[in-house]
Amino acid sequence: MTILAIESSCDDTSAAVLVNGEIRSNVVATQQVHEQYGGVVPELASRAHQQHLIPVVEAALQKAGVSKADLDAIAFTQGPGLLGSLLVGGMFAKTLALALNKPLIAVNHMRAHILAHFIEDPKPRFPFLCLTVSGGHTQLVVVRSALDMQIIGQTTDDAAGEAFDKTGKLLGLPYPAGPHLDKLARQGNPTRFPLPVGTMPGYDFSFSGLKTAVLYFLKKETAKNPDFIQENLPDLCASIQHTIIQTLLRQLRRAAHDQGLTQVALAGGVAANSGLRQALQDEAAAQGWEVFIPAFQYCTDNAGMVAITAQFQYKAGDFADQLVSSDPRLKLA
Ligand code: ATP
Ligand code: FE
Repeated sequence: MTILAIESSCDDTSAAVLVNGEIRSNVVATQQVHEQYGGVVPELASRAHQQHLIPVVEAALQKAGVSKADLDAIAFTQGPGLLGSLLVGGMFAKTLALALNKPLIAVNHMRAHILAHFIEDPKPRFPFLCLTVSGGHTQLVVVRSALDMQIIGQTTDDAAGEAFDKTGKLLGLPYPAGPHLDKLARQGNPTRFPLPVGTMPGYDFSFSGLKTAVLYFLKKETAKNPDFIQENLPDLCASIQHTIIQTLLRQLRRAAHDQGLTQVALAGGVAANSGLRQALQDEAAAQGWEVFIPAFQYCTDNAGMVAITAQFQYKAGDFADQLVSSDPRLKLA
């Protein structure tokens, strides 16, 4: 089975080719235009998708050694994401499917982040618990099968990635701040500046209190010493990162215990965070968990995860028609 998948939910344009369960190519064009604005500008993202899509698809097909005639299906990200960005990928996929007379598969982006675990070994076995931590979402999901997932907890305000990006912005780090904060935190003391761990009932998360706490703390300290941030940057980064990780682990621990699940998977771009990866490994050793984290290229937005998800849907006969519409708020379950 040969599937061409397209991902365009946010600011990465990506195309992947899957042949008989194997990802043969996964091409990603990241948009640089947003950096100067300190965040993704939706209108600019749509335009950049229009420019990148055809070359990215051509490169993915070529790299995989596959021609359009070989394709058994065309898959695309239906949502959630930015409407304009989703529309570009969706219209392209629909047009290609119509022109080639091939089946169309509409994929949920958050499901794809989770099923990225099935691209490479070691793979989790159903059921397992997945913590999805990305730029727009923070979800605890019980994954019963590829097509049966239940969100048991999620953020009530900012996502974990946003918490990294927004607190990092307060420290003057470039966008997206997450990777910069991670790097600086490695040289810092994580307990130097105690910050509030957002506590929520059940398995939900809250990160907006942390952002506000960091804002007021920095205001107070820089009023006394204008160079406070500069002089304490690694410790500030380490303390913020430590707090975000504690917030995540607290609910993860509780959910795994209550649900009786010992396989714990991490998904989404924040899974790249070295502190979180280490903390999860330590927690796993203490709790007797088996931990799964996909390769970095399959954690951030990529069409490979869309392709593997489409393969599950293909086998289940879950196809879309030409009337399918992009949905910026598409629900996981
Ligand atoms: P969504 O999937 O919710 O729509 P997204 O696809 O934009 O969001 P991803 O691409 O999965 O999000 O992840 C991007 C986020 O991951 C950004 O917030 C970025 O700062 C964060 N991130 C990436 N690397 C790291 C890192 N090493 N440490 C912390 N955060 C990181
Ligand atoms: Fe994503």
